[in-house]
Amino acid sequence: MRTSDRPLDRRSGKTLRAPVIVDRLIAAYDGGVIELDWTTPFELLVATILSAQSTDKKVNQVTKRLFVKYRSPEDYLAVPEEELQADIYETGFYRQKTRALRGVCQGLLERHGGEVPQTIPELIALPGVARKTANVVLSAAFPQAHRADPEAGVAVDTHVTRLARRFGFTTHADATKIERDLMRLLPKAQWASASLCMILHGRRICDARRPRCLDCVVEDLCPSSLAANCRDKAGQAQGLAAG
Ligand code: SF4
Repeated sequence: MRTSDRPLDRRSGKTLRAPVIVDRLIAAYDGGVIELDWTTPFELLVATILSAQSTDKKVNQVTKRLFVKYRSPEDYLAVPEEELQADIYETGFYRQKTRALRGVCQGLLERHGGEVPQTIPELIALPGVARKTANVVLSAAFPQAHRADPEAGVAVDTHVTRLARRFGFTTHADATKIERDLMRLLPKAQWASASLCMILHGRRICDARRPRCLDCVVEDLCPSSLAANCRDKAGQAQGLAAG
C-alpha cells in the first residue's frame, strides 16, 4: 500500500496532514474571524498594533473610546504624546505603542495620502509594522489583495507558533521561519484562514498549559495529543497485564 493510500492519522506526513487539519479548523471556526473590533482598514491597523502583548478584549475596550476621539492619522499626531499614551495606557507597553502609532500615521500621511496601503511591502515599510501585522491587516481588510500579493504569507503569532509546533509543521521558534514552513505546507487559498483559525483554536481548545485534546476536532491528526498519549500508555499497561 502506498503511503498516500493509508488512512490519514497522526503518524502521516505533515504535507498530507496540514491541509486537512486546516480545512477542519476552517469548518470548526467558520473560516475564522478577527476578534478585534474595527470598521475601517485604518482602525484594524491601529487595533492590531495595540494588540501586541495584550488581549483582544482589552484592546476592544480601549478602542471603543479611542476610535471616537481619533478618526484619522492626523488625529493621532495632533495631540501631545502624553495624551495618546494615557488614552492607550490600558493595553500595556503604551510608550512603545504610542511611538509606533505616530510613526505609522506619519508614514501613511507622507506616502499614502492617509490611506492604508494594500501591499505587504508597503505595509512593512511603515515604521513599527512587522509581517504579522501586515498579513493580518491585508488578509482581513483587503482579502483579494492578500491573495494576489506575491509577498503575502501567514500571520504568525504566539498561538500559531505553538500549534504549528504541536502539529509537527515546524521545529522553529522564529516567526519568519515558521511562516515559511506553513507557506510550504498549505495552499495559498488557506493562508489567511489558517492563521485566524489556529489563533481561535489556540485560545479556545489548544491552551498553552492545558490543551483540551478530548474536545479537539483534529485530535486524530495531532502528534502532540495528550489523549493519544494516555491511550498509548493504557494500551501498553493492558498489554503488560495480559502478558
Ligand atoms: S490534540 Fe491536543 S495538542 Fe493537538 S491540537 Fe488538539 S488540543 Fe492541541
